[in-house]
Amino acid sequence: MNLTIPYDTPLMMEVDLSAHILVVEDEVAIQEMIALNLTQAGHEPQLASSGMQALEQIQHLLPDLILVDWMLPGMSGLELVRRLRAHQRTQRVPIIMLTARVDESDKLLGLESGADDYITKPFSIRELNARIKAVLRRRAPQMTEDLVTFKGLSLDPATHRVHANQQEITLGPTEFKLLHFFLTHPERVYSRTQILDHVWGDHVFIEERTVDVHIRRLRSALEPSGADSLLQTIRGAGYRLTAQP
Ligand code: CA
Repeated sequence: MNLTIPYDTPLMMEVDLSAHILVVEDEVAIQEMIALNLTQAGHEPQLASSGMQALEQIQHLLPDLILVDWMLPGMSGLELVRRLRAHQRTQRVPIIMLTARVDESDKLLGLESGADDYITKPFSIRELNARIKAVLRRRAPQMTEDLVTFKGLSLDPATHRVHANQQEITLGPTEFKLLHFFLTHPERVYSRTQILDHVWGDHVFIEERTVDVHIRRLRSALEPSGADSLLQTIRGAGYRLTAQP
């Protein structure tokens, strides 16, 4: 059976693989240099010059990744990272610290405070981009363009193609993101609220039932290949992609 339906351009454009990156840095020249390069790398930078400003901005939009300068006026970068890690909403946001310090004990302090990685100034843009990609891959694999495979399912974000047991599957943009999320987080149960946060984005006001609607669409797209059984409903808890259906 041929399941291939030509996919249209809006489908490709709606899949957002660029990251919202908050840059917390008080030196304007460095701030602008980083922002320019993030934009060129396809990301969407937001800028803050202090820890307080960063916290304020995060209330409105939770970034996908935060770059924090160690030496900031007022609240230090280290203190900002500690605060972010202490709150449930920001606990898991990937953080990279930027610093002029080269002392090994400072580096440890930065990592102990909850930063995921550490870049010493001066750094090359190539290094910054590589670190961002590595941290996103580790902390938010659904943000990267890496091909993901699981039990006969494969999803390629770069070409936007999905295969299930050798059959090509065509998915709507939301189902594509949903499957991408599950494929990068297999064997774990996610509640509807968690799925909304991860797939639809933070601060969205969408009914939890919407998740069920898109899960149903995803399952029926996968059904002809038999891969729909991998996506389990866990009563009272949520959904899980599992190799042992
Ligand atoms: Ca600084």
